[in-house]
Amino acid sequence: MPLDSLTLMIVYTVNVTAVALGLSVALLGQGSRAALCAQASALTQAIGWSCLVASGFFRDTWGDLLLSAPAMLLMSLSLVLLLQAVRKWRGRPCLPRRLYLAALVMPLLYALTFHHYPWRVGLANGVIGAQMLWLAAEAIRPGAPGSWRWRSLIGGSMATLALVTLWCGVLGAFFTELYPTFATPHPVNLIGSLLNNAATVLTGIGVLAAYREEAEAQLKTLAITDGLTQVLNRRAWSERTELQLADAKRYGHPMIMLMIDLDRFKQINDRRGHATGDQALQLTASVLREELRSGDLVGRYGGEEFCVLLSHTNEAAALAFDQRLRQRLRRRSEQELGFTLEYSAGLTAHRSKDTSLDDLLRRADAALYEAKRAGRNQVVMSP
Ligand code: GH3
Ligand code: MG
Ligand code: MG
Repeated sequence: MPLDSLTLMIVYTVNVTAVALGLSVALLGQGSRAALCAQASALTQAIGWSCLVASGFFRDTWGDLLLSAPAMLLMSLSLVLLLQAVRKWRGRPCLPRRLYLAALVMPLLYALTFHHYPWRVGLANGVIGAQMLWLAAEAIRPGAPGSWRWRSLIGGSMATLALVTLWCGVLGAFFTELYPTFATPHPVNLIGSLLNNAATVLTGIGVLAAYREEAEAQLKTLAITDGLTQVLNRRAWSERTELQLADAKRYGHPMIMLMIDLDRFKQINDRRGHATGDQALQLTASVLREELRSGDLVGRYGGEEFCVLLSHTNEAAALAFDQRLRQRLRRRSEQELGFTLEYSAGLTAHRSKDTSLDDLLRRADAALYEAKRAGRNQVVMSP
């Protein structure tokens, strides 16, 4: 059975429209900027292809130009949008806005040189092919986040389409008699249509897989983070601290635990309102994060209590840390909240005979109790 290019292209247009609508329904309002870019990309691609196929019915009239130049613009824009989505999913910086403007240049030149067939076909396919290659490279490049599953689906589809598109460009520009229109039953058109159908479905699946990965990562972060202060929650802090303590025990490096409790916090809530109390907790967490080094762990242990694990740290360094923290908290709370925030702290060092995290917590808690009893706003080291 002979394959008819125009029928294949119409089927492809239906397919690309269905995938775009499907992605819109599946991803709409999910709050992911990358998914939003991917949806916009699918929709612009669907409209672009519809224009291109429609332009085939207006050959050698103004309708051809009026449909195919916007088609080029939409298809180029669609690739910029997908590139943006892939970069977001891979944790790479956003593309500059001027790149969206650059997507205008090719369609503009295409329209201006519309009557020079080899030039415009070579130009359009060359630019779109190059964009596809860039997209494939961005998806496949090692070293950035993203599982190989969705990256290979999008990267593989784009690399394959790039080859076919560049092939069309070379034929159109240099062997024009072999490639009079995109609907000619030339093998490149037939192969291109079939591959476009497959690539659209695979790219759509890749987009869904990438979004799922993003949503999963967000859920994991939510599960270990305290919603108000954005530091580790108690369970996550305890789990990570247990691991670090096991390491400290094995390699014998010093570890300090600091248990911090804000002073007279109930009064702050009572006098200034719960919202100010919440701001005070957020500020404390922010100051803690600023003072910590990588490898240290801070968690919200209870209402207005934070626990800090200082790795590779001895008592003297931990006391210096406490002083810096105290000063910074005092300064920032006066500046940002309009009153002074103070805390009491219990400090204890990891000992080789400690059998679990509970041993350290018990000592830190007892020292904290001593700090409160001795008048607050101070640190007490466990004996
Ligand atoms: P002390 O100096 O002895 O530690 O006194 P305190 O008032 O800080 O301690 P107390 O345990 O009596 O009160 C702690 C308060 O912290 C009571 C509780 O309402 C408040 N709290 C706990 N969690 C939150 C929270 O998420 N937001 C706010 N605003 N307050 C909280
Ligand atoms: Mg408390
Ligand atoms: Mg307190």
